[in-house]
Amino acid sequence: MAMIEDSAASGETPGGLRADEPARTAAGADEVRQLWRGAVGTDLPSRVRDVWDRVGRACAAAGRPRSSVRLLPVSKTHSAASILAVDRVLDTLATREEVPAGPAGRRLFGENHVQEIVAKSAQLAGHDVGLALIGHLQSNKVNAVAGLVEEFQALDSLKLAAKLDRRLSALGVSLRVLVEVNTSGEQAKHGVPMAEATALCRRLGDFDCLEVAGLMTVAVNSPDRHAVAACFDRLAGLQTQLRDDAVLDSSWPELSMGMSGDFELAIAHGATTVRVGTALFGPRDYGQGD
Ligand SMILES: *Cc1c(COP(=O)(O)O)cnc(C)c1O
Repeated sequence: MAMIEDSAASGETPGGLRADEPARTAAGADEVRQLWRGAVGTDLPSRVRDVWDRVGRACAAAGRPRSSVRLLPVSKTHSAASILAVDRVLDTLATREEVPAGPAGRRLFGENHVQEIVAKSAQLAGHDVGLALIGHLQSNKVNAVAGLVEEFQALDSLKLAAKLDRRLSALGVSLRVLVEVNTSGEQAKHGVPMAEATALCRRLGDFDCLEVAGLMTVAVNSPDRHAVAACFDRLAGLQTQLRDDAVLDSSWPELSMGMSGDFELAIAHGATTVRVGTALFGPRDYGQGD
């Protein structure tokens, strides 16, 4: 506690980052503790720099330009203040290396709960960051989330595509989507099964408001690097097949694969977006308070 109070007095982390002022002054005791754990945690800037450097080294090792891989920070369970803190550190690093922040020209942060997206999009209004939904979406939540996110990475059924397109059309907006593919074959995983992926992808041309940008997968969670790499290769193989078959008017540019535990391996296997949470923000706390 003493250490925390010391840092609070200075208002700065060792990296020179100021915490988000409005959020701090408005916060109650619990929220302040939450903020200290996230945005103002003393090791946040160094974690962000470390991940950034690891992405760079993985690109170099794969003979790929640094700008060919987007680092998508996954902010679920972490505060809006943490998002802004990570965004600021990444801004300084990306500018130095001229790496574009994301497809929309501004940095997106990955989330997977609709309620959290609703809350955070209000908290982040006026800030130059956006949200991406990277997890499963139930059709009864489509109306709540459409219009709040700038990218949806977990499209995995025709029914969902139709419902989403109808809502987007009513709002007069379009949405960048990736098709989530279950490359591990695990029953518990979301995503369209490999065997049905091409058929689903073909049908997405029917929807005017869906901008189909590529594929996404969550690899098997295994210490066996070969098993994980096999998932990445399956996704890349599907991309090649979609291109060869000229499915839709898309080159299927995006391969979103790789998380904190396996993003370097994913880059070696062709990832264009890596979704990194824990390694940037620290551990997630799913509990209700402490
Ligand atoms: C939470 C999540 C991540 C990030 O996981 P970490 O292991 O914390 O990096 C990536 N992708 C999806 C789909 C997630 O839900």
